[in-house]
Amino acid sequence: MYLKTLTLRGFKSFASSTTLALEPGITAVVGPNGSGKSNVVDALSWVMGEQGAKTLRGGKMEDVIFAGTAGRAPLGRAEVVLTIDNSDGALPIEYAEVTISRTMFRSGGSEYAINGNTCRLLDVQELLSDSGIGREMHVIVGQGQLDSVLRATPEERRGFVEEAAGVLKHRKRKEKALRK
Ligand code: ATP
Ligand code: MG
Repeated sequence: MYLKTLTLRGFKSFASSTTLALEPGITAVVGPNGSGKSNVVDALSWVMGEQGAKTLRGGKMEDVIFAGTAGRAPLGRAEVVLTIDNSDGALPIEYAEVTISRTMFRSGGSEYAINGNTCRLLDVQELLSDSGIGREMHVIVGQGQLDSVLRATPEERRGFVEEAAGVLKHRKRKEKALRK
């Protein structure tokens, strides 16, 4: 399993549709300060279901939508599409290629789809939760974040282990059921 393509449309500084083609192995994104490298990483978190505006380096969730520049008007929606190669069957779905997309409108609300079928955030989370590419913070380690992993509380550390062991989704389901 590996990430194949990432498409950004109206996401942060990527006003025009931009597709990054990735290969198996290590990918490095290089560029001058402010050119959008971290925005690419934010797009990856976002399409996998990230719910925290702060994690996405914004004040509110709508801040991911292209806000306009001197020469270009703001956009009304952001969309990110992630294609994952699943020919080894690592994701629990019977497709050799899996496409996850998330769209957000300035008027509010997010829509998710798996292989073009509208789904819930929970479906995206469950699809990814056993794969090692879930949205939890130890997957995407930001600048200075290594420190916080090392200084994690016992509860947080338990969360890492649970996700790695594939039981986090069951705990989330249980918590959800208990809230009802
Ligand atoms: P550095 O090397 O300093 O870490 P970077 O390549 O990681 O830089 P980013 O943080 O990805 O840069 O991009 C920052 C740019 O994205 C800024 O110019 C900022 O104005 C722009 N930006 C962020 N959100 C939006 C938005 N919603 N609409 C338009 N532009 C945005
Ligand atoms: Mg950066």
